[in-house]
Amino acid sequence: MTANPLLAQLLAPEPPTFRVGSAAASRCPECGGPADPAADGLAPCPICRLGWIAAWEPGRVRLALIPELAQGPLNALVVRLTLALMAAARGAAAGAGRPPKPAPDGARAAEAARQNRLLAALQGRVAATRAALPFAASPLVLRQTLLALPASRRAALVAELEGLRYLPEPGDPEVARWFRRRLALAPPDPPSCGLRTPE
Ligand SMILES: [Zn+2]
Repeated sequence: MTANPLLAQLLAPEPPTFRVGSAAASRCPECGGPADPAADGLAPCPICRLGWIAAWEPGRVRLALIPELAQGPLNALVVRLTLALMAAARGAAAGAGRPPKPAPDGARAAEAARQNRLLAALQGRVAATRAALPFAASPLVLRQTLLALPASRRAALVAELEGLRYLPEPGDPEVARWFRRRLALAPPDPPSCGLRTPE
């Protein structure tokens, strides 16, 4: 019915049950990142799992039209950017109260600024999408809206929403815990991606 996996997930009759597998995947099949470091053996990773449960736990994601990236690569990008910013904030906190260090070199400062702009641009898409498509402000409302439509109108709307993605809600406690565990286990690699920052 739709080539957008997120919409298929939102329209599922019920949320999937993720089972603990004996052969735990070491990589998330959707974003390619490490599997959950809590070693619960679940796949996909907790960030990619949000898409599957969004309609039933709508406060945990923000929807946005981001057609240039599929959900898996978008999740990988958001994870890299968030970990890089957390690592930078941790470094700044560790340096607080000590004699001032030499200023970071220009390339690193520019990279940090670029990462900040990218995350802000993604969050800006959330606001723009909510303004343009009020029924897509919440995955629950979107599910209810789509299910209430006759099949032909639903198909037309689903086609319009081909570029709809989700971002993890930054204030979600489980997401925040997962990011802290990830940061403790594996400091981030420098990000690289195909999303352009609007200048
Ligand atoms: Zn993942």
